[in-house]
Amino acid sequence: MTSALRTPDREALERSIHEVGTDLASAFPSNARHPLRALDQRAMDLASADQELKAALFRFVDVTPACRSLDDLARHLRELLREVPDAPPPLAAAMRMADNRAARTAIGAAAAAGVKHMAHRFIVGETPASALGVLRELWNHGVTSSVDLLGEATVTQPEADRYAARCQEAVTELARAQRGWPGREVLERDGAGQIPRTNVSVKISALTPLLRPDAPELGRRDAAARLRPLLRRAHELGAHIHIDMESLDSREAVFDLVVEVLSEEEFANGPSAGMVLQAYLRDSPEQLERVLAWTRTSERKPPLTVRLVKGAYWDHELVQASQHGWPTPVFQVKADCDRNFEALTARLLDARPAVRVAVASHNLRSVSHAIAYNRLSGGADRDLELQVLRGLGDQLQDALASRGFRVRTYCPVGDLVAGMAYLVRRLLENTSNESFLHEQASGVPLETLLAAPGAAV
Ligand SMILES: Cc1cc2nc3c(=O)[nH]c(=O)nc-3n(C[C@H](O)[C@H](O)[C@H](O)COP(=O)(O)OP(=O)(O)OC[C@H]3O[C@@H](n4cnc5c(N)ncnc54)[C@H](O)[C@@H]3O)c2cc1C
Repeated sequence: MTSALRTPDREALERSIHEVGTDLASAFPSNARHPLRALDQRAMDLASADQELKAALFRFVDVTPACRSLDDLARHLRELLREVPDAPPPLAAAMRMADNRAARTAIGAAAAAGVKHMAHRFIVGETPASALGVLRELWNHGVTSSVDLLGEATVTQPEADRYAARCQEAVTELARAQRGWPGREVLERDGAGQIPRTNVSVKISALTPLLRPDAPELGRRDAAARLRPLLRRAHELGAHIHIDMESLDSREAVFDLVVEVLSEEEFANGPSAGMVLQAYLRDSPEQLERVLAWTRTSERKPPLTVRLVKGAYWDHELVQASQHGWPTPVFQVKADCDRNFEALTARLLDARPAVRVAVASHNLRSVSHAIAYNRLSGGADRDLELQVLRGLGDQLQDALASRGFRVRTYCPVGDLVAGMAYLVRRLLENTSNESFLHEQASGVPLETLLAAPGAAV
């Protein structure tokens, strides 16, 4: 693996970011080829323009799995929409119609189909077996994947056992199928060696019901007992296990757990494993130094993969801090978060070969910065992985693959009920006015999208 030799000059870096970003933008498939995506985007635009409507829709998505029938679903929708003060006329007409049972059923069916359609955009299948078709199709198009088994915050021991068993089955099933896929050099090899085809993302909060900030040791021990067999199976099958990061109250427990288990003798030579760094946290630079300090003392092979993200729990962290009167742990100005993301990208790229670097973002500026910094500092394209979420980063995924980058798409697998929390987070993110995807869809010029965070254009 090439280690970074030069610190790029600021002006050259900005020029290169602009070139890379412009080239990637020109490789985006047009919406005309994806009419359904354009339709979803309009629905999201409508929701983002009206805060009350947006809040009602989120509550609706939340209650959908609990509804027993379509009639029940329509009643919930009607009640939630009543709270929207100025419902637009078609909505008001629909609400009047919803006063009779037959119409309610029709509206409920349409709403349920809408939620399902939206969910299928983000969730690739109900089981790993049913997801294989999509995963194989991605692979054929030069895109690799990480499978996430939906299921959040386990509350009982049997639930945690079931989640651990599903992860084992997924690793086994995927490895068996993926072994027969055709070779793809870009997706399977970097300077550090072979990259596993099978990659599963795991949530520690689903591996134990005991993950509590007031008793971290208990949760750590309980989760470790389920993580070890999974790592053993992954090692046997040559698969990669990636530990996702969740809200801040579990970060210490998750970090300590990963470091502790991966430091054990039996895992000294594998499996390939990774963790996540969240750039929206103000203390993320110090957190990264802790990760790097561990990789320096650890003799473990292959190198730890660090997936850099901004963070999916921004609203949650703000509310949590204000409820407890704590200082906010997250940046509150988007440009500060984006700038920090770039600084962490540079620090991570400079730290190779101690780590493998995966930059996970749909923001063309953030991604172009990573590519440009890597190139200008002497790194090879294959020593930087780019990651996107299924359904949100499809266009960027296609553009990156067409330019020969290794792109990994995070593919949630599970049923609609388990997927609701995931879906709500994706919707919240996508309809935020500060979201890059929202700005891009609203027609903000490329020049502005590619400008340095906070810079006046
Ligand atoms: C492959 C993949 C895996 C992921 N895994 C995880 C994971 O394990 N854990 C996790 O937490 N997230 C994870 N995420 C989600 C990620 O954290 C982001 O939420 C998402 O990618 C949006 O960021 P962006 O760079 O794509 O878009 P952008 O639009 O550039 O950034 C949006 C993000 O900026 C931050 N933000 C928004 N408003 C503000 C503000 N006012 N001030 C400061 N910051 C703000 C938030 O983090 C928000 O999500 C993953 C994403 C991908 C692509």
